[in-house]
Amino acid sequence: MTDHIYMSKAHVTQVEEDLVLEALRSGWVAPLGPMVDRFEREIADRVGVAGALALSSGTAALHLALLEVGAGPGTTVVLPSMTFAATANAVLYTGATPVFVDSRSDDANVDGALLLDAVRVLQAEGHDVAAAIPVDLYGRCADYSVIEPGLADLGVTLVEDAAEGLGASCDGRGAGGFGRAGVLSFNGNKIMTTSGGGMLVSDDRELLDRARYLSTQARQPAPWYEHTEMGFNYRMSNILAALGVGQLSRLDSMIQRRRAIRARYADAFAGVTGLDILAHELDDSHDNCWLTSLMLDPSADLATPDQIVERMNAQGIEVRHLWKPMHLQPLFAGARMFGGGVAEDLFARGVNLPSGSELTDEQIDRVIDALTTAVRKG
Ligand SMILES: *Cc1c(COP(=O)(O)O)cnc(C)c1O
Repeated sequence: MTDHIYMSKAHVTQVEEDLVLEALRSGWVAPLGPMVDRFEREIADRVGVAGALALSSGTAALHLALLEVGAGPGTTVVLPSMTFAATANAVLYTGATPVFVDSRSDDANVDGALLLDAVRVLQAEGHDVAAAIPVDLYGRCADYSVIEPGLADLGVTLVEDAAEGLGASCDGRGAGGFGRAGVLSFNGNKIMTTSGGGMLVSDDRELLDRARYLSTQARQPAPWYEHTEMGFNYRMSNILAALGVGQLSRLDSMIQRRRAIRARYADAFAGVTGLDILAHELDDSHDNCWLTSLMLDPSADLATPDQIVERMNAQGIEVRHLWKPMHLQPLFAGARMFGGGVAEDLFARGVNLPSGSELTDEQIDRVIDALTTAVRKG
């Protein structure tokens, strides 16, 4: 059996090994320490914001961001249907009501104009819209040139879910820096990893200070453990931050590799009628190429995404459907949805391909060979 090819595997080298060992030997094993401070500073610089807060996951960062902007019972939060469940789950944690919005067909990101329409409708009906959360889907920035000024006009706070988008930029600004707060994830399959972790980034130091306090059990300044409100245990450990510092130093080369992998897929399937690489024709500086999605035209003579996933997995190559839209999930069966046809269509005809920066050219050749057969009808 040849080795398994994963969609997006952690890519760790000697650089990370040395830093983790340094952190271990420094005595700063837990909980916090100088690597956490350094990682926060370096991420804030990279994104282009005033500060950052290292947390145990991207989901924790979303939760704290939403609490800080006033999401809670009786409020509404607007977000794309086409996203990973974590975005919507964080809304539920706060007690707010999620309302979903359809995608654009060209890059699967949230439809900015529809998002603003949804907010207008909700506000006209008297709903208190606490926030909107655009997601930088598969590493590509959402359409902030429309969304950012539009939300500002409507008086609605933008929280950016850049969990998949670190290193991408939009009109010269880094992903994560568009909202009142931005959220990054360092989960094992993301563009860079701390094995598990996340970051809240913002220009608003007060917001970060409050989130920092909530993330460490909301402890009051007193000689004993004094608490006046509910807190969380959401901080990142010093050992994991060391892994993050190492990964961040290699982020650009990992993005470059993912971009090259996408270009190879695009070349390989350029001549096949009915096959396209999602967003490949668009300005790719807006994209860190986290995952490459292969889109199938249902009117072409091709296999179905189900068949492709099954055939590839049978050969030890991980291929997955795009995120199943939230409005189709049993968990959100009763939730309100603006539009929906585009996200449903994207889900019905797309698969994500192995995209990890550790993949060798030989492994990509193997994926392309297997796909060439797997996409045939029958
Ligand atoms: C991964 C991801 C998250 C959650 O990050 P975790 O670190 O896994 O908690 C949130 N939103 C999106 C869009 C993601 O892809």
